[in-house]
Parts: sequence; C-alpha cells; structure tokens
Amino acid sequence: MSDCLFCKIVAGKIPAKVVAESDTSLAFHDIAPQAPVHVLVIPKRHLTSANDASGADVGLYDDLFSLAQLVVTEEGIRESGYRLIFNVGVHGQQTVPHLHMHVLGGRLMTWPPG
Ligand code: AMP
Ligand code: ZN
Repeated sequence: MSDCLFCKIVAGKIPAKVVAESDTSLAFHDIAPQAPVHVLVIPKRHLTSANDASGADVGLYDDLFSLAQLVVTEEGIRESGYRLIFNVGVHGQQTVPHLHMHVLGGRLMTWPPG
C-alpha cells in the first residue's frame, strides 16, 4: 500500500533502524520505545491487522515469531524475558494499520496492561 507508513519502511522510503530481516518479515526499532528494548516485527506484505490474516497466512506468523526469536537473542533479553504484543483495532489502541508485533523487554513489565 503506497500510503502505508510501514510499507514505506519496507520499501526503504522511510529510514528505520533494522535489527533483523527475513524474506518475508522485517524487524526494526520502535521510534518511541516504551522499554529499553522495543522492536517491531512486521510482515513485508501489507496486512492491516491480525484481523486481516486468514488461515492461509499461517506461514506468515511462523516467520514473524522466528524473526522475533532472533531479535530477543540479539537484544540480549531471551533469558530475562519479554512481551510479544499485537495491538488490534480501536480497543487494542492500534495506531499504525499494518500488522506488527511489539517485542518489549529490558525491564520488569506490569500486569494487567493499561
Ligand atoms: P501500535 O500503536 O500498536 O499501532 O504501534 C505502532 C508503533 O509504531 C508505535 O509504538 C510507534 O511508536 C511506532 N512507530 C510509528 N512510526 C514509526 C516509525 N517511523 N519508525 C518506527 N516506529 C514507528
Ligand atoms: Zn503496509
């Protein structure tokens, strides 16, 4: 999608601090980190949200989670722990309409989430 922020990052039209990449997914640092480690993992193909992914997209999630495993190792939070979060829609407070997984770590998280 030409007007999508994350599609522009995938296309290299907007700069991002890339952490890891696969054929189908990209991981980059969040521009407004909410924890010492805050990385976004996205499919390179545009999907608006987790609502947009169908059963046919099952491999897409495999790849997102595989890349997240590389991220937590490279960022040194595998042993200390972390959160993997998908915000979806209005109640999920999703602000960028391109499916993404937040990888948050480097501090003790609170529960329940706000
Ligand atoms: P969400 O609120 O779940 O839709 O998450 C969107 C995330 O994208 C937020 O945490 C933003 O800080 C982040 N974000 C917005 N613009 C950029 C950008 N240009 N580069 C990296 N992260 C961004
Ligand atoms: Zn997009």
